[in-house]
Parts: sequence; structure tokens; C-alpha cells
Amino acid sequence: MEKQWNVIIIGGGIIGLACAYYLTEAGQSVLLLEKGDLGEGASTSCDDMIFLQSKKPGILLTIALESLDMYRRLDQDLPASIEFESRGGMVLIESESQMSHMQNFVRQQKALNLDVELLEKDQVRKMAPLVSKHVLGSTYSPMDSQVNPLQVMRGFVKSATAKGLEIRRHCGVKALDNPSPYHWKVTAEDGKIYESSFVINACGAWAPQTGELTGLELPIKPKRGQILVTESVPAFGKTNFWSADYIVMKLNPDFAKERSALMNDLGIGLSMSQAESGNYFLGGTREFVGFDKTVDRTALHLILKEAVRFFPALEKVNIIRTFSGFRPAAADGKPFIGPVATQPGMYIAAGHEGDGIALAPITGYAISQMITGKPLPYDFNELSPARLGI
Ligand SMILES: Cc1cc2nc3c(=O)[nH]c(=O)nc-3n(C[C@H](O)[C@H](O)[C@H](O)COP(=O)(O)OP(=O)(O)OC[C@H]3O[C@@H](n4cnc5c(N)ncnc54)[C@H](O)[C@@H]3O)c2cc1C
Repeated sequence: MEKQWNVIIIGGGIIGLACAYYLTEAGQSVLLLEKGDLGEGASTSCDDMIFLQSKKPGILLTIALESLDMYRRLDQDLPASIEFESRGGMVLIESESQMSHMQNFVRQQKALNLDVELLEKDQVRKMAPLVSKHVLGSTYSPMDSQVNPLQVMRGFVKSATAKGLEIRRHCGVKALDNPSPYHWKVTAEDGKIYESSFVINACGAWAPQTGELTGLELPIKPKRGQILVTESVPAFGKTNFWSADYIVMKLNPDFAKERSALMNDLGIGLSMSQAESGNYFLGGTREFVGFDKTVDRTALHLILKEAVRFFPALEKVNIIRTFSGFRPAAADGKPFIGPVATQPGMYIAAGHEGDGIALAPITGYAISQMITGKPLPYDFNELSPARLGI
């Protein structure tokens, strides 16, 4: 039996590592157990965006804005370049009906201090001269930003290990016992037992399996996303880009009728973000297919077709890589960040779906504040597992 830690984190994706970073900053002794290699789940099979414009006004936009500020500080504080950049984002609008939905959405976002505006056709072309002529307008926010998730995780690991974080890789957790309140015995697949006062389930799309070890039913499912990566090219415009149709469909499900059945089945909404290296990430799908990691030609073809529809010049650009990953999708679309009321010492930090990169800093910070009994910057009740009776 090894020594006792204050906190054991299960799962070494960006969320588990953010928790490790803020907890070690707060002086806690922390052990992190990862069943494979660090970042082998969604956190290295994803885009790189801190995309604020997709967030519905409410708690998610509020904490995303806070998280963006935290990334600005991490860019200075972490001992690795996290490639943080506020390149801004444009949501490209193709029809009058999309325009009226986006006008309303932008009004609500502005009320929550998101710096966002609507651009006319001519202004769009100034910002993105290569955009297709059929685009009617766009939204624009200079606040949409990006980071390199791999570099963020490296930064968290380097900084937290310097403050005492211990990490066991290839150390999946297979049993969790709770002999008394705030006393956890965590058994790894090799039979070793680790003890702590607190446990954090940060297993992303696999959080339900870890939850089951203590009888919890966590409503989180893997939502597959397929992505194409282009060769390094000059920028197609000043910002990153999204198509409005998927955002509008989320606001008004009737809008699905204006899209093809296949686009709806695959959940395709175009996103285009350019990494510091010049490669574009073209995404993506949103599919419930269990843990099937296949990338399929139909989906890739449709994503590419969408991208070329908005930027015809992309037709001449080579695709160098494709991949897929599993977004941890919670049943009500909100992450679980908080304690399990019936299991003293057990915390959940999972279910961030397509926002886990954007929300990692605020999640790690909030969990650390909760565990150390310090005040929170916002009311996290809406994100507590208790909201769904957990
Ligand atoms: C295609 C795609 C594009 C995306 N784009 C963006 C984006 O632009 N911006 C954004 O903010 N988010 C984006 N996301 C979402 C983001 O990637 C996720 O929300 C985030 O990575 C989730 O992090 P996590 O740490 O919760 O999960 P993961 O990174 O999946 O980590 C969970 C870890 O737990 C480990 N684990 C599981 N079970 C056990 C066990 N029993 N014992 C020990 N370890 C275990 C796994 O091996 C894994 O390493 C995207 C996701 C996808 C798939």
C-alpha cells in the first residue's frame, strides 16, 4: 500500500490535468492515474478553439469568458508555449433566416459582455477575401481564441510535477472503495491500492464506467467527431470560421429541414481553424456511434464539400491527415463540475462535450476551490451533479 494523498485524479486528459495544476498550486498532494498515456482520449483528438460565439448566453458563456481570461494568464505562467492566440472568429451566414436567428443570438451574447457584432457582405469580404460570393454576412468576435491542447497539457504536467504531482501512466482504475467519509481506496488494474481523502472522476467519455465502480449512473455518452487536417497554407482570412447553419439548428430544430438528411444524421457543421503551423483543421461530425473510432469516407467527403462551398480555393489544398475523437456528451449538454452529494469526497469533472479545451482552466480552478473549501467566482449549482439527482 502506498502513501495517502489528499486527492487522486482518475483520467489524464486536459480536464484531469487542469485539476492537477490548480490543486497543486493550492498546496494539495495529488496523484493522477491514467489508464493509457496522458492525453490519449479526446484531448489530443480535437480542435484547438476557445470558441465563445457558439455558447448560449447563461452559465456556459459566463464560465467560458472566465476561462479565456485564465488562458491569458496561463500563457504567461505555464513553463511551455501554449500557442494562445486571439485570432477572432466569424460565423458565416448564408440566408435571411439564418441572419435573423444570428441577430437575436448576438443581441443576447452582447448582454453578457461578449464582444461580438454582425458584419455586412462587404465587411465579410474585407476580413476574408477568399470567402464564397454566396455568403450574405457574418458575425465577428475578436475574442474567439485558440490554444494548442497538447502544449497546454505539457505545461500543466511540467508545472504541477514541479509542485509535487505524481503521475502513474498505464494505470487504469478498476475498483473504488469508500470505507468511511473522505477516505477512498482506489485499486488499479495491477492490483495496487492508493488511498486519498478526495477522488476526481475526470474520465471524459469513459466517466460513466468509472462512476459505475461506486454505483453512479452518469448520463454521459461518447459523441464522435471526425476531422480533416490540411497541409500548411497561407491564411484564408483574418479569423477562424464556422458556418451558421449548425448553430442556428441548435437554436431552432425546425431549421434541420433546410439541411440534407445525411448532414443532419452526421451532425455536420463546418469549423475551420488554423494552427500556428499553418495547417487548417476542418471539422466536423457529431455522431453517437459508441466507441467506434472509424473515420469514414462519406463524412470526410461531406465536410470537405462544405469547406470548399465556403472557400472554393480549398479545392487545391491537400489533406494530410484525418482523425476522430470522442466528445464526452452529457445528457443535458452541460458538464458535471462538482461533488457527489451521497459519496463524501467524490467529485465529477467530466461531460464537457465540445468545450473541454475552452473550459479546462475554469473547471480545474473550480474543483480546486471546492475541494479546498474556498469561494467560487460563480454559482456552480447549475453544473453540479446534483442537478440530475447524482
Ligand atoms: C473532433 C473534436 C473536436 C473538438 N474541438 C474542440 C474545440 O475546438 N474546443 C474545445 O473546447 N473542445 C473541443 N473538443 C472537446 C474536447 O476535446 C473535450 O471536451 C476534452 O478533450 C475532454 O477532456 P477530458 O479530459 O474530459 O477527456 P479525455 O481527454 O477523453 O480524457 C479522459 C482520460 O481518462 C482516461 N481514463 C478513462 N478511464 C480510465 C480509468 N478507468 N482509469 C484511468 N484513466 C481512465 C482516458 O484514457 C483519457 O485519457 C473537441 C472534441 C472532439 C472529439
